[in-house]
Amino acid sequence: MNFENSLFHAQALDQADVLNSFRNQFFIPQVNGNDSLYFTGNSLGLQPKAAAEAIQTELEDWKNLGVEGHFEGKNPWFHYHKFLTENAAKIVGAKPIEVVVMNQLTSNLHFLFVSFYRPSSKRYKIIMEAAAFPSDMYLVESQVKFHGYNPEDAIIEVKPRAGEYALRHEDILNTIETHKDELALVFFSGVQYYTGQVFNIKEITQKGHACGAVVGFDLAHAAGNIALKLNEWQVDFAAWCSYKYLNSGPGSVAGAFVHEKHANDNTLPRFAGWWGHHEDERFKMLKGFIPEAGAAGWQLSNAPILSMSVHKCSLDIFEKAGMENIVKKGQQLNAFLQFVIEEALQSNMTIQLKIITPALPERGCQISLLTDENGKELFDYLTKNGVIADWRNPNVIRMAPVPLYNTFEDIYHFGQLLKTYKK
Ligand SMILES: *Cc1c(COP(=O)(O)O)cnc(C)c1O
Repeated sequence: MNFENSLFHAQALDQADVLNSFRNQFFIPQVNGNDSLYFTGNSLGLQPKAAAEAIQTELEDWKNLGVEGHFEGKNPWFHYHKFLTENAAKIVGAKPIEVVVMNQLTSNLHFLFVSFYRPSSKRYKIIMEAAAFPSDMYLVESQVKFHGYNPEDAIIEVKPRAGEYALRHEDILNTIETHKDELALVFFSGVQYYTGQVFNIKEITQKGHACGAVVGFDLAHAAGNIALKLNEWQVDFAAWCSYKYLNSGPGSVAGAFVHEKHANDNTLPRFAGWWGHHEDERFKMLKGFIPEAGAAGWQLSNAPILSMSVHKCSLDIFEKAGMENIVKKGQQLNAFLQFVIEEALQSNMTIQLKIITPALPERGCQISLLTDENGKELFDYLTKNGVIADWRNPNVIRMAPVPLYNTFEDIYHFGQLLKTYKK
């Protein structure tokens, strides 16, 4: 696409955008009385205007029906997770039996590790990316220790080469190959939170399987951002949160995926609870856990309805918008952002920024900008002028223009701020 750095061109792109009307379905945070330039949907997605009513519906049923809301409510709470399954499954390219909405992201990963990280004296190692999101580092370290292994020995990290920021795909595959006789699990993110690098989930999974390992993913920055085909790619398990690209509110309920090939495998160890027990038998209160088939059998507790209700209304928006449109617009916004940044770098010598996110197909809608030692000053200037972006120590600005509510015009204005920045 040929871009121009003008307001007219940005507005024309917005008019041609099939998702343009979706912005109206969200509250845009205000700065100095104006709509902010909100580029942190990768950290906390914005509030759908329908969220309050969705919660209110459940509060009303609780108020009027009390416990009877479990079966008599407008959206009976007993089955509530099922109202979300189909739309959540579409976002990650899964079959409904493979997905369940429950708990929180890190908790889901721990529960899935119970079933899918099953080290033996010969095969006990885990391959993951270096400098993963901290929760993933703690997750893997504590799991390894729980099984009696030493993290220094059992965790193999794939690192960027000297002077590089992203991982080379071939380095990931080669590391798996090198360790193929001692590997229990390959565990990666789908999109690296710091660099915005999109990993090749399909080939990492193939390689892991060819080397005898189980393969799982943390899709926190991938769900609702990039095209995913978890079923087709044969991924064993995955989990994601709903408050980043999925706009379901701070700390909202998370998602989990278990491939259909494991759906009826009752030999897998798991930590069980009554909500994962076979539905017809759930209220018989008998001994002996019989799991529901598929991902639903990993549930433990009854669902947090208030948070589920917001996630449900957000998933309905994704269903209306369509993941294909979202992915396509995400790439266009990203390309336009890169274009205005490069223009600003050419015309304004006071700014020093380097894009460390690799090019397509290794990126989603996020761009990570490495700054020089004055980066924090630049960031503070942007903040003062209505930009809500994300500063990550030591010196990276992360920006995610989000297809459902960001506009090309947002990006144009951001470019103008960069162009006119003075120290
Ligand atoms: C955001 C994020 C988390 C957060 O975990 P919670 O359990 O939801 O607090 C974990 N891992 C990754 C990769 C993330 O990006």
